[in-house]
Order: sequence, then C-alpha cells, then structure tokens
Amino acid sequence: MPGLKDVSTAPFPFHIMTKPRGAICNLDCKYCYFLKKEALFPGSNFRMSDPVLEEYIQQYIRAQPHPEVSFAWQGGEPTLMGLDFFRKAVALQAKYRRPGMRILNSLQTNAITLDEEWCRFFREHQFLIGVSLDGPQELHDHYRVDKGGAPSFQRVMQGIQLLQQHDVSFNILTTVHAANEDHPIRVYEFLRDEVAARYLQFIPIVERENATGYQEGHTVTDRSVTATKYGEFLIAIFDQWVRNDVGRVFVQIFDVALAAWSGNPAGLCVFEETCGRALAIEHEGSVYSCDHYVEPNYHLGNIMDVPLAEIVVGADQRQFGEAKRDALPQYCLDCEVRFVCNGGCPKNRIIQTPAGEAGLNYLCEGYRAFFNHIDEPMQIMAQLLREEKPPALVMSQMPGLERRKNHRYPHTGRNETCPCGSGIKYKKCCGRLRSN
Ligand code: SF4
Ligand code: SF4
Repeated sequence: MPGLKDVSTAPFPFHIMTKPRGAICNLDCKYCYFLKKEALFPGSNFRMSDPVLEEYIQQYIRAQPHPEVSFAWQGGEPTLMGLDFFRKAVALQAKYRRPGMRILNSLQTNAITLDEEWCRFFREHQFLIGVSLDGPQELHDHYRVDKGGAPSFQRVMQGIQLLQQHDVSFNILTTVHAANEDHPIRVYEFLRDEVAARYLQFIPIVERENATGYQEGHTVTDRSVTATKYGEFLIAIFDQWVRNDVGRVFVQIFDVALAAWSGNPAGLCVFEETCGRALAIEHEGSVYSCDHYVEPNYHLGNIMDVPLAEIVVGADQRQFGEAKRDALPQYCLDCEVRFVCNGGCPKNRIIQTPAGEAGLNYLCEGYRAFFNHIDEPMQIMAQLLREEKPPALVMSQMPGLERRKNHRYPHTGRNETCPCGSGIKYKKCCGRLRSN
C-alpha cells in the first residue's frame, strides 16, 4: 500500500554466504572449519532444493535496499551442486531483479571440478571465482588433500589454467598456517609470477582444538599459524609489494589498511568496528549469524518460515554484531592501531591481555606488528590518494624511506626489538629494508 514501509526490505545492505551443498566437499583439507558442520543436519541430502533456492533468491534480492546485489556461493564445494543448479540460480536472479538492479555472483571453489563448460558459464555470467591455493606444490599439498589423502595441487592448477584460458575473473585465497608460515616470499612470488594472480587474500588459520568444530575452547591446533608468524608473513609480503607491485597486485589486507589510513571503512568485516551484516545460509534455508558461526546457538531462523529481512534486523543478530565493538578489552581500546584493527574477528578472541582481561585476539601480536610496520608507506599512499594521485607512486619513494629508516635506527642489532613499535625482531621488521 502506498506510504507503508516494505517490511521485506532491510534498512541496510547485507551479505550472505550461500551453502547450497552444505559442508559437502570433494577434498578433505585438514584445517577446514566447515566439514564438521555436516553433523548439524543428520539424514540430509545436503542439496538446496528448487523451492528453497527460489525463495532465497527472491527474498535476498527483495531485502536489499540498494540496486547492487551480490550473491556469494560457497561450501563445502558449491560446484558439487552441478551446473544446472547455477543455471537455475541465474535464471531466478533475472526473474526477480528489479529494474536497474545489478546482480553479481562470486563463487569460492577448490577448482578441481572445473571444466570447459563451467568456465564458459562463469565467463558468460561474469562470475568472480575465488580459488583456494596455499602456495607452491609442497606447501599447498601439506593440508589440502582429497578424501583418499591424495594431493590436490595439480588438479587445482589445471582448474586455474582453464579459468585463465576462458578469461574468467578470479582471485586466490591462500590460508596461512603452520606449513607455509615461514615461506611468505616463496608463496607470494609463486602466486604472482607462476600463477599470474592479481588479486590475493592471505587468511590466517586459527583452528580451535575441540571435537565439535564450534567456536569454543581456548587452545588451537598445531596447524594454526602463530600470531608472530602471521605478522612476519604479512610484513615480508608487504615489503616486497610496496617496492614493486603497488597497482599491479592487489592484496586484500593491504587494501583494507589503505582504506583505514584514508579514513574510510575497512570493507572487510574482520576489521570493521561492528559486524553482523555478513551472514550464512545453509542448504535447507537456515540462516546463521556468520559463516564462522554455523552452530546451534547462532541459528537465527529459516527463510521458509521467517522472512530473511526480518531475520537480518532481529535483536539477536544486532547484538551479535555490536558485541564485536562492545566486548573489546581495554588493551584494544588503548591500542594505537585500533582504527584499522578493531580487535579483529570475535571468533579469534580467545586469549587474555597482559593485564589478564579476556577477549584479546589470538592474532593480536601479529596484527600489531604488521599495522605498525606499514604506517609510513600507508601514510604516503593515503596522502597520494587525497591528492588524487595513484598510490603506486609510493614505490618511487621507498628508497628514500628506507634510507631514512636506516639512518633513524643506525645501531639496532638484527635480533633486537624493532624501534618502529611493531614489537618484533628488527631483522623481521624494518631491518628487512636495510641494504647493508
Ligand atoms: S564474526 Fe568474524 S567473520 Fe563473522 S562477521 Fe564478525 S568479523 Fe566477520
Ligand atoms: S592490534 Fe591487538 S590490541 Fe590492537 S586493536 Fe588489534 S587486537 Fe586489539
């Protein structure tokens, strides 16, 4: 009725990870946080049915207040639904899109099932494909194995080649863990030079030690990256990138940082002040607070019973999102890099601050080191942006910056703590830039 607010539309845009095949996957990656979710749906066939798919697409489009709607297909392995499922999905998107609306699709895959037909489809419908690849063969195959324990690297690389041959846009999602944490440059140069990837994400593996796969317990598995190593990993790649590759290679956490140094929102939930606008939907229509909280305590409702727009604005989800900010320990409130870090993802807030307060992020030490280390180049890039110049001009300023740093810390020993404030060893931090 005219004048009445459409209650099926949310007042803000939000994002949903869609799990059409639930946790079902053709690989058995040893650190995967999602495989255990199979236990949540005993007896299920783990396939999103046509009625659920149609209801979801209709509600999701309708609930978005803005004319750009982004579908993210994930798993498990979403391509195990078969291509016909995605043909139906894009047909339904066309059916329900409002005039002037732009629909985008992204799909996260291990790339093993990809063939010519998939790639033609992705190209035709302009899907953005995220491929999971943990570095060169021996680093990738350490944890990314199939159900029989066989390595997956060769098959993943074939999938990437097909995407490239068909000119499909793709990015690489690399997890950082115990097997590759000591090899940042090898990983980076492999992805840049041998895979020819231009969009990279480096996601830390922080895997809780428990039988449920839920976010509970305070210890992590041996496969998890350590906080220090994660910081050193990012620092090593940043130093390489900022000297050679700005504007040519795009690394998600560097983009997030530049946004923050420019006074803009991070654009990634992990580093936003609050969260709660990145939910997950399972194959049978159940909606959860977040992809990392697909567990009973964070079940918000099922779209076959409750409209999605209502679920998204519900009190439980609001509280979930605001707790990220409200539960920050004093240590974070006083931190010099909180403007970019915001305490990180709540799922990793499992350690205590030096004063004994709970709720500090397991990765704190790494985040703090990394964000302090990149401060000066980030300030330069943010200034370039303000002057409407390309941030890539920072590369020509790096030799001067390195000379100034060497001059500033002339007597620091390689094993001493770096004076820049990162808290890690000089040789792993600003000492990297030292040419002598
Ligand atoms: S819990 Fe973590 S991953 Fe989930 S929405 Fe919040 S910040 Fe993002
Ligand atoms: S770096 Fe550590 S102390 Fe600072 S905001 Fe992040 S988690 Fe908190």
